[in-house]
Amino acid sequence: MRIPDPANTVEQQLELLRLLRQFGPQTRRQIAERTGHSLSQVRQLTQGLVEQRLLIEHGIATVGGAGRPSQVWSVAPDACYAVGLDVGGAWTHAVVLDALGRVLVKRSEPTTRAKSSLALLHDLRRLVEAALSELGARRRAVRGLGVAFSGFVDYARGKSLDAPNIPHAHALPLHEYLSSAFRLPIVVDDSSRAMALAELRYGAARYSRNFIGVNVGVGIGAGIVVNGQLYRGALGLAGELGHIPVMPQGPPCSCGRRGCLETLASGRAIAARARALLEQGTPSRLGVLGGGDPARVTAEMVSKAALEHDDLALRVLDEAGTWLSVGLAVVINLFSPDLVVLTGGVMRGNHLLLSIVQREIDQYILPLLPHPFPVVLTWLDENVGALGAATLILDQEFEGGFADRMALTATR
Ligand SMILES: [Zn+2]
Repeated sequence: MRIPDPANTVEQQLELLRLLRQFGPQTRRQIAERTGHSLSQVRQLTQGLVEQRLLIEHGIATVGGAGRPSQVWSVAPDACYAVGLDVGGAWTHAVVLDALGRVLVKRSEPTTRAKSSLALLHDLRRLVEAALSELGARRRAVRGLGVAFSGFVDYARGKSLDAPNIPHAHALPLHEYLSSAFRLPIVVDDSSRAMALAELRYGAARYSRNFIGVNVGVGIGAGIVVNGQLYRGALGLAGELGHIPVMPQGPPCSCGRRGCLETLASGRAIAARARALLEQGTPSRLGVLGGGDPARVTAEMVSKAALEHDDLALRVLDEAGTWLSVGLAVVINLFSPDLVVLTGGVMRGNHLLLSIVQREIDQYILPLLPHPFPVVLTWLDENVGALGAATLILDQEFEGGFADRMALTATR
């Protein structure tokens, strides 16, 4: 009998786990067909993975109508766990996922208006600690903490460069602080990019290889996926859709420039535009919704009033949706994605704003592109950024993180 080469076996086992992660539970015959391995090879690989507790028998299935029932195999849910933290302009979310990407624990709280960088880091630590406590003894199998941050992020060094929408978040040493607090591998990435990753693994973009995930919240950001991979750019700053200049000499932006898309189409811009019109004396239900104080009007109130056919709110959403379409057309013409997924606090469930974007976008993109262009709303919940952040860790496991356990078994 041929002695299997351990390194080769490890790579084949990882490939098998990735296949089950992508396509869900499979029989050995299905695995053989998808990988090109013989049935006996697949039997050896699955047996090894079961011994390492990375694979479980999921059930029995009869595939293809006829034939006898076969065992169906799945990645073991407890093969590993990952924590995800998403620090947004308005909310901070923490989740713990199992190896299948299922949410076991979720916690959210408003992003603290901390008095210092250290106080902000303490608050993040406290939220992660609370999520880990809820996991109980299983926390020993946690393989890392992914942090999604709403701002400019140095991916390689794991720190925030700046975050105009979060106080005291300038040059925040997230990696340094959290890795010494939890003794875990830490990955820090941009929130919008983490959201795009969640869409790619579990959401509307699951069957797409080239798509743009656009996060419209307090600000605007995008995650660009090219050939199934997140695109980060030379400095890790790719995807700053909110800072594409669309109106020369337009309103001042938090980045220091003027007329960025974010100043015309973000949640903050929607609220500011509605307030300005109210202050000019334009009649609107928003007067009541804001309790008589224009300063208290939020983007959420504008969307609510628009659904009630309020003229001012409809006008504000129409303007914001038109600007958003201009920005999206730039990215669509540049990258030729097959899909745009809209997410973030302003977009979630906002079918009215979606319909404005769908109507407008066809006027700006190349006529050769599909019309209507596929633009959809996320169906993932408000934890999408934290889900993506934890998935950065899971991806590392499936790319090779499990290999240390496998190498031990293979050479035993
Ligand atoms: Zn800007």
